[in-house]
Amino acid sequence: MNHTNLEPQSSRSESDKDARILRQGRKLFIREFEKQLKELDALLNSLRAVPAVEDLHRFYRIIHTLKGSAPIFGYDRIGRLAEELVRLWEWTQAIDQGQEQILASTNPVQEHAERSFKLLRDLNMEYDIGLTEIQMDEQKDPTGGSMLRTLKSRLLLVDDDEVLRSYLTRRLQLDDCIVDEASDVESAIKLLRTHTYDLVTLDLMMHPQSGYELFEFLKEDPTLKWLPLIVLSGRNDLNDKVRCFHLGADDYVTKPFQYEELAARIYGLLKRTKNFEQLAFRDPLTGVFNRRYFDLQIGMELQRIERYPAPISLVFIDIDYFKRVNDTYGHHVGDLVLQGLAHLLQTNLRSTDLLARFGGEEFVIALPNTSLEQAHSTMQNILHIIRSNPVAQYEGKPFSITFSAGVAEWQQGLSVEEWLAKADEAMYQAKQQGRNRVLCASAEKETDPSKSAALPLPEKRNLLIVDDDPILRAILTSHLEHLPIVITHASDGEEALSLLQEKSYHACILDGMMPRLDGFSLLDQIKKDERSANANMKVLMLSGKKKEDDMLKGYQMGADDYMTKPFSLVELEVRVKKLMNFI
Ligand code: GH3
Ligand code: MG
Ligand code: MG
Repeated sequence: MNHTNLEPQSSRSESDKDARILRQGRKLFIREFEKQLKELDALLNSLRAVPAVEDLHRFYRIIHTLKGSAPIFGYDRIGRLAEELVRLWEWTQAIDQGQEQILASTNPVQEHAERSFKLLRDLNMEYDIGLTEIQMDEQKDPTGGSMLRTLKSRLLLVDDDEVLRSYLTRRLQLDDCIVDEASDVESAIKLLRTHTYDLVTLDLMMHPQSGYELFEFLKEDPTLKWLPLIVLSGRNDLNDKVRCFHLGADDYVTKPFQYEELAARIYGLLKRTKNFEQLAFRDPLTGVFNRRYFDLQIGMELQRIERYPAPISLVFIDIDYFKRVNDTYGHHVGDLVLQGLAHLLQTNLRSTDLLARFGGEEFVIALPNTSLEQAHSTMQNILHIIRSNPVAQYEGKPFSITFSAGVAEWQQGLSVEEWLAKADEAMYQAKQQGRNRVLCASAEKETDPSKSAALPLPEKRNLLIVDDDPILRAILTSHLEHLPIVITHASDGEEALSLLQEKSYHACILDGMMPRLDGFSLLDQIKKDERSANANMKVLMLSGKKKEDDMLKGYQMGADDYMTKPFSLVELEVRVKKLMNFI
């Protein structure tokens, strides 16, 4: 039958009615299913202890019914699981009442019990999904988890347990997450290279490579090493936990767990990451990254290219005659245009491209794995789209703009500043040649003799930041790096200790709570060794909670200042400046 818009009214209400009946049926099925699951579990337990023919038959009848009824309501997975149970227990059909002696000699129930319990566990997960779907259908929020829906995140689940993975995927999808699955480390790495994720959940026990190997991969990659990660592990082992936290895990959840708890943990982690990101690294008007983030990230990209050589290009964009938009229609329309352009650029770039607003109406894009020619053609396409589509609407009126862009590919030996200058120069040429075009910078490296004779730089003061929270480290760095200081990071006390043995630092921001060697023990060691070059280093302690005892302890041990998280970055800056004698 061909469904068209001309479909008669009656047939539409007919199908509405069908849908209503099916919904009703599914609801009844799930309600019944809950009771059946409970009974199956009880029967299996008592069969394992004392096998009785009556119980066996009852057990078989239930699974047989399920096998038939579940698919009718669209629960195919339940049907398949029930079918597997039926196959396991088919042999019991040959046993009649009074033939208990067959069961008494050997207990074949034992043999199948373990597999059956596992299948029951899987059926319980299906029940959970079914119930959640119905609750959502009725606009009732299932308990917990639902907060996740507000974040619209993309997650990667890495687990070799197919059933658990598919259960989590479907539950998370009901919470409006985009979810990708990987059953081993290799496919996880492939996905991580091609998509941008907000969070990863990782199983430790997998084959052929264990979850630990994924940690190695994430740590090596500057764009991935801050990706929030939750370990989901069947092992409730202290060593595993500690090791995972050292390697950079943000949380550790032991299986079995309740979905609601996992969802709440994911939510908490995402929320915190997003807040931090938003505050420190995003341009508030357009939502794209800011210059500070760009500077941090581009340095890491170049570090990566040194290890894995690949082309990378940079684009400098400046809107044409933007002043006129502001002057003619007002600043507000100008802002809308900026937002529109940012959106259009973002949606036409790859997820691995790095777009940042550099200043007023200037944007910069770094395109990894992209040659000069490819970057040029990408920008040509985007300019073409811009010319033919208004970037903003205001009071029903469309606004169109054009831009001028300069492209430069990175070459060996080029600093970030020189590279940016090349792209900027090409952009300037584009303006000179009449705007509304994309030009490439020339390939040869310009050598400016005045630059190579480097002047001796004034000596900068060293600051050490010791904190196990990578995001906090990044934020502190980006907030303090405008000061004439050299910042070094350590992610725990032991790493800090070995850094302190190599060099002297003027000041240290020190987290109290860390794995391996906590901040207090580290402080103790620093102050104990009076001959050390760092015995007079100024120390600003940070602590997670408002604990007066901790504060007192910190001061008694020789800390010079103390702050509790969360703290204001402005206040922190003032205190660091004071400690380092800038004010
Ligand atoms: P050209 O083609 O030579 O680039 O011309 P132009 O008018 O774009 O040149 P110019 O770079 O001098 O103008 C930039 C203008 O961008 C000036 C300023 O008013 C405007 N601008 C900078 N930041 C913002 C902002 O955040 N919002 C708005 N609405 N305007 C901004
Ligand atoms: Mg400008
Ligand atoms: Mg301009």
